[in-house]
Amino acid sequence: MTLLCVPITVHDFAQAIDDATLAKRAGADLVEFRIDEVFSGSGDALEERLALDLCANSPLPCIITCRSAAEGGGYDGPEMDRVSLYERLGTASGAGEVPPRYLDFELASYVASENIRQKINLAVDHPAQLRDLRTSLILSMHDFKGRPTDLTRRLLVAREQEAPRVIKVAYLARSLRDNLELLDLVTESDRPMIALGMGEFGLLSRVLAFKFGAFLTFAALRPAQTTAPGQPTLAEMLDLYRVRSITARTRVFGVVGMPVGHSMSPLVHNAGFARAGFDGVYLPLPIAEGFESLKATLGELIDHPRLDFSGCSVTIPHKENLVRLARESGWALDELSQTTGAANTVTVERDAQGRAARVRVSNTDIPAAVGVLEECLGALAGLEIAIVGAGGVARGIALGCARAGAHVTVYNRTRERAEALARDLTPHAGAGSVRAEGLEMLKASRARALVNATPAGMASGPAAQESALPEHGLASKEVLVFDTVYNPIRTPTLARAEALGYATADGVGMFVRQAAMQFEGWTGASAPIAEFDRLVRARLAPKASGGG
Ligand code: NAP
Repeated sequence: MTLLCVPITVHDFAQAIDDATLAKRAGADLVEFRIDEVFSGSGDALEERLALDLCANSPLPCIITCRSAAEGGGYDGPEMDRVSLYERLGTASGAGEVPPRYLDFELASYVASENIRQKINLAVDHPAQLRDLRTSLILSMHDFKGRPTDLTRRLLVAREQEAPRVIKVAYLARSLRDNLELLDLVTESDRPMIALGMGEFGLLSRVLAFKFGAFLTFAALRPAQTTAPGQPTLAEMLDLYRVRSITARTRVFGVVGMPVGHSMSPLVHNAGFARAGFDGVYLPLPIAEGFESLKATLGELIDHPRLDFSGCSVTIPHKENLVRLARESGWALDELSQTTGAANTVTVERDAQGRAARVRVSNTDIPAAVGVLEECLGALAGLEIAIVGAGGVARGIALGCARAGAHVTVYNRTRERAEALARDLTPHAGAGSVRAEGLEMLKASRARALVNATPAGMASGPAAQESALPEHGLASKEVLVFDTVYNPIRTPTLARAEALGYATADGVGMFVRQAAMQFEGWTGASAPIAEFDRLVRARLAPKASGGG
């Protein structure tokens, strides 16, 4: 069973024990006391006492780590003082003394001298220790810059050592593919292993440690208390990714894009899996911009023999790349994706042996947007619809509305782009039509609905304060204003629409619908759409200010 370990940077005894108590209450199995900020190696007996007291009073089994500066820690004192402390802790047998369950020591330091090895070996599996409380050695290696070029050699050296019970590798993951190597190391290792990717690309290895049977994975007690870049919190591990229910058979899903750190998709899909009793986990899957990155990474995820990668949502900047990849790879591509050149969903069907038998690529953005409009307006046939913007989202919504029989006018500040869109879609417009106008013509529109498909109003974007709706609205009196932007929920466009007495539909509805269709395609279960909606609205709701 993979353990969940909370690292605690020790500043003083009371704070460290309080945090360890909180970690236990919150569901951790183990704590790591990082004592390198308080142990100076100056010979101060109080520092040794602090370490002994932590071991004796920890409410959970503990790892003691005095991380060297060379491997990203705070200890830069004499090496032999650190080694002597470890020896003292491991052999602790005085009244009230308890040795730590684990000591973490770096491979590079361990192999540096025979003398060091002897002392560290003395500290572990010491005969004076009670059998089931013996200290074990975690032999570790870290690289904060990237994958060490000599990783294989280092691992060989580590595996030649008899004393370590656990081998730990942590390096800065440069791409998702580094995680696959780390997880393979866990599978191939003949002894318990910790293999973690650091940084924004490393989360996969941290969460899927449970799927691949790693010895442990780390999770911070609080967001600001991570001891390595990219470390998730304990609450995320337990409540969002539900790591306790992950097994070797758990299917893996995620959201591909860049950036994806703030995506709402993990929130809704993981909650949906839990609700449906579906054995899956859904993760952010950052893939750097560019077709080649998507091709290489998605290919490896799909082909990995033990990952059970079963599908993903795809967002900016890969929606168009996905269609190209599907064409090149001979994957099944739905008609909407073919016509618009953009897709947002991958579904991997696996055979009884777990091999990828069929990959399907589809577009759920379009039916989601049309669904929002139909819910508000009924059938769209014969209605005039104005769409602001001529990017990928506008293209999809224009096609979907025209197919439903609506007459669409696309208004864009770069008129040529709107014209190109209309030209491309006209042969595919079904019973409806698509035409183009410059943005300045919008105020004269007599449309029944206006759709904002630009980033106007998007929080933290360059147009955060802008409204896609002209100051005095449209020429028509009865208008539904639908904003595809959903963060914030109440955008400047929707605020203006309300002030003008127009009906409104916010972007959460579209987001939730496209996610629900993905969910149903992957799981075969009906999506808890009301719960998706509630979760997204709760996450996006403006936080009450601290005031006072
Ligand atoms: P895109 O391809 O970059 O296209 C953006 C379009 O907006 C372009 O036509 C651009 O005009 C126009 N534009 C940009 N800034 C503008 C401004 N300040 N004023 C007027 N027009 C402006 O983007 P996209 O992929 O189509 O996405 C558009 C929006 O859809 C995103 O911002 C996102 O919030 C939203 N979205 C929502 C969902 C959902 O589930 N609710 C899903 C996906 C996307 P030019 O051609 O002149 O540059």
